[in-house]
Amino acid sequence: MDNYDKASIPSLADCLKAADETRELLIHRGCYTEIPALLERFYQAGGVYLVSDEHTREAAGRRVREILEEAGIPIAGELCFPASPRLHADYSHIAAITGGISVLPNPGGVVPVAIGAGTVNDLVKRAASELKRSYLCVPTASSVDGYTAYGAAVLYEGYKQTMSCPAPLALAAEPEVLAKAPSYLSSSGFGDLASKIIAGCEWIISDAVEPLGVPGADRIDGAIWNMTQPGLMGYLERSIDAARGDAGAVIALFEALAITGFSMQAFKGSRPVSGSEHLFSHVWEMDDLSLDGVPVTHGHKVTIGTLAATACCELFFADPAAPPSPPAGYVRPGLSQRTNSVSSAFKGSRCHDLVVQTAREKYMDSRTAARIGEAVRDNYRELRDRVLARLLPYEKLKEILAQALCPLKPETIGLSRSEAIATARRAQMMRNKYGILDLAWDLGVLEPILSRLEDSETYLR
Ligand SMILES: [Zn+2]
Repeated sequence: MDNYDKASIPSLADCLKAADETRELLIHRGCYTEIPALLERFYQAGGVYLVSDEHTREAAGRRVREILEEAGIPIAGELCFPASPRLHADYSHIAAITGGISVLPNPGGVVPVAIGAGTVNDLVKRAASELKRSYLCVPTASSVDGYTAYGAAVLYEGYKQTMSCPAPLALAAEPEVLAKAPSYLSSSGFGDLASKIIAGCEWIISDAVEPLGVPGADRIDGAIWNMTQPGLMGYLERSIDAARGDAGAVIALFEALAITGFSMQAFKGSRPVSGSEHLFSHVWEMDDLSLDGVPVTHGHKVTIGTLAATACCELFFADPAAPPSPPAGYVRPGLSQRTNSVSSAFKGSRCHDLVVQTAREKYMDSRTAARIGEAVRDNYRELRDRVLARLLPYEKLKEILAQALCPLKPETIGLSRSEAIATARRAQMMRNKYGILDLAWDLGVLEPILSRLEDSETYLR
């Protein structure tokens, strides 16, 4: 275990205190009856605008509306999206919410209320932020880490991007509703939670190279690390039956996901709980990955990304004595060669210019890169020990994902195995956030690792 694990694990309430946007999280039976009090305490609400879809209105929306009406809180408006086709986080829906609220007689005092899973929450989060007000969230599934995170994943001008917007001031999660959510949503949440293990390993890698002046590397903040990492395995064990509708498991899963969001609020970024596995998923989001016409959930994409990133990590650290060596005759690409490769990898993509810009920001001259190589080789055993002590071995990871009814093979989310492996190249280019793929690229060993992954009889099979 990493040294930071010796500290005690903070409670959910302590994690909530560390968050600076969310003030209250209710998760207990009957908590919807406390929504009027939440509205009074935190929002000075003159009325509410309810947003749901046809499923979540049935699951929770009608009950919430009844409670609000009984409490005398004006329902200023309501927007219910159709159940089919499955709701996308498309920017046009955000415009529908802001438009719906703006035309109300007294829009200033109206509080948007998101009643739904990740997509409804993301839409309302961004709409509320554009209207410069806080919203209240009534989550209906333990499906994502994004309920309590800063930012919303939105399809804007053709590609999925994280738009900035604050987390909800308050949330009210009814365990009975969470437990009745469709199984695929709970397994998505479990996969998203399991991803925090490899994300923690990559934070260790980033921490190790940060003193060398590496772009996109972050030091470990011990207090924030303790919010998510030491308690993670316990939460995964307790939430393993969530997709089978076990109420206790679903509560544990929701709490753990909420804490990961609070850690992002405290860190002011996603580093504590998101690494290369999420970059794989971002690429597939950009590609609009779907299976039989139905978009693959965030959590299921992240699950396959977690398996792929874990495999890359194990392959990088396979030798106990030294990191892998680049192939004979390897020459580090110069800046223009590198930006050309990034440009052609993202040719035709709407985020092309942004990614090419990122490539420039990430690029290190040969001397800095050589220094990193040297430092990693000199301290390899220590770094390997720290990372592997934290990493859940691939076979064990696959076992818990199987128990939690998560996808295990790329084919299950509509990708061939080779396509999933090849994604590592674009994932490495996507963001300036140092992780295992960057380390492999900087040492000139990303391609050999991907070849070994391709040839493996174990990984992603
Ligand atoms: Zn996530």
